[in-house]
Amino acid sequence: MTPPSRATAVGLVSGGLDSALAVKLVLEQGIAVIGYNLRTPFLGGGNEAVVRTLAENLGIELVVEDAGEDYVELVRSPRYGRGAALNPCVDCHIYMLRRAEALRRERGASFCFTGEVLGQRPMSQWRRQLELIEREAGLEGKLLRPLSAKLLPPTRPEEEGLVDRRKLLDLRGRTRRPQLALAKAYGVAGYSSPAGGCLLTDKNFAARLADAFAHDEYGADDINLLKIGRHFRLPSGAKAIVGRNERENEKILEYLDEGGAAFEIVAVGSPVTLLRPSREDDWPAGAALTLRYSDARESDAAEARVWSSKGELGTMAARSREAANSDEWRVGAG
Ligand code: SF4
Repeated sequence: MTPPSRATAVGLVSGGLDSALAVKLVLEQGIAVIGYNLRTPFLGGGNEAVVRTLAENLGIELVVEDAGEDYVELVRSPRYGRGAALNPCVDCHIYMLRRAEALRRERGASFCFTGEVLGQRPMSQWRRQLELIEREAGLEGKLLRPLSAKLLPPTRPEEEGLVDRRKLLDLRGRTRRPQLALAKAYGVAGYSSPAGGCLLTDKNFAARLADAFAHDEYGADDINLLKIGRHFRLPSGAKAIVGRNERENEKILEYLDEGGAAFEIVAVGSPVTLLRPSREDDWPAGAALTLRYSDARESDAAEARVWSSKGELGTMAARSREAANSDEWRVGAG
């Protein structure tokens, strides 16, 4: 007799402990799991490696998809508000679940699940929000939250007998203790801290992003540049980004395009500064900011080299007084 084919479920995996435990609970029920991870432009470096290693350790297939431009739009104007920084967690969950549901249909899987815990996060995990997310994602009554399932109404996979509700959990609130004990019991390791990878929860990054949005800068390059360097908004509206180390200096230059200019101080240890857009009126400020973070920072003036994506534009005097207001121009810290 052919054994019945194993049911499959699609679970959101973020690299964090809760989603890893939810996967474990579903696997324990003899259900195969496809992990779904959304690669947004607002994730810190290294997040994807954590997710991939975790999926490998859990022994599940992983599907990683890029968020579309509509995701950036959602971050700019979320329908359901933001958390403590610029994180639109309710809208973001809805977005991810719609994508996961599309994958579920495509793969003929039985249901979707998440590692959400009732009452754990003030913005997105109160009961009302969980219901809203479910409804807006088109998953009313169908979305399983294995970690808090016993505190929530039975979902369709439970009612249909696919999932044994008795083996699900009743976790609630912000304490992490039960999850840490379960991680130990299940041997789950290598997960990231809660919301660890999402820069939208970082106040410094959020300040930079809010400033970029206010200046209609939300292309892929604009967003990637927010992750490196010191940022300054000049009175003209142009942006100057000063590298903090060799790696950032090199990285910054990858974004030097036709509209920009780069600066460095000649003959001393110097950062690279990127000016976008490059208007000659802003060159004195760009050169002065470079001087401020160079080894010649104690000097009133030094020689700066200026170049564009097409080549050398010349040298000019960098004068410290041209950046006297740089603290006011600073966007975010770091
Ligand atoms: S922390 Fe970031 S990735 Fe996670 S739900 Fe909120 S906005 Fe989305």
